[in-house]
Amino acid sequence: MPPFLYRAFAVGDLVKIDYYIVGCPPKEAFLKQIIPAMVAGDTLELSRKSVCSECDRIMGPVENWTLKHRHEGVPDREHCLLGQGYLCLGSVTFGRCGASCPKNNIPCHGCNGPSLDILREPCRDIYGMMARRISDLTGKPQKEVEKELYDAAHTMYAFTIGSLIMEDKENSKIRDLVKERSR
Ligand code: SF4
Repeated sequence: MPPFLYRAFAVGDLVKIDYYIVGCPPKEAFLKQIIPAMVAGDTLELSRKSVCSECDRIMGPVENWTLKHRHEGVPDREHCLLGQGYLCLGSVTFGRCGASCPKNNIPCHGCNGPSLDILREPCRDIYGMMARRISDLTGKPQKEVEKELYDAAHTMYAFTIGSLIMEDKENSKIRDLVKERSR
């Protein structure tokens, strides 16, 4: 048994990773796209966009927005889940999954990890970006949205909490990670 560490870490902070493959678990279509290229030693141009860019739900004006729990009601299948009050993390999450959760009426819970803008910019984080996005969508002041999101904040970091890149935001590491994850 290796010795216990003082906290949980993301595996990439402890051992060298050859390739980062987004998704927990990675989606089959994405694996079919990249594994043959990796085996052949080819480089592949991959999308760097967020889950929202792969989602075809309608985003429109929203009135009287309040945060809903996932088990509350049944979401309408056409409109943006975030606009309906569900905490969908599509705008702050790396794509390459074809927005498979929103397409199946389930809010994105961030399993592909943070989007490139969050990885790149030291001052950006998931909580602040979600509050800003909801405020833009609903016209509610950002401070009010932040208060509403506060109790759900832990759910936004389910796939990133162990990673030094989110905790420390060291610029040097961000640059390396962005390079590795955008290959
Ligand atoms: Fe789709 Fe979610 Fe983005 Fe709305 S927030 S467009 S439901 S991925």
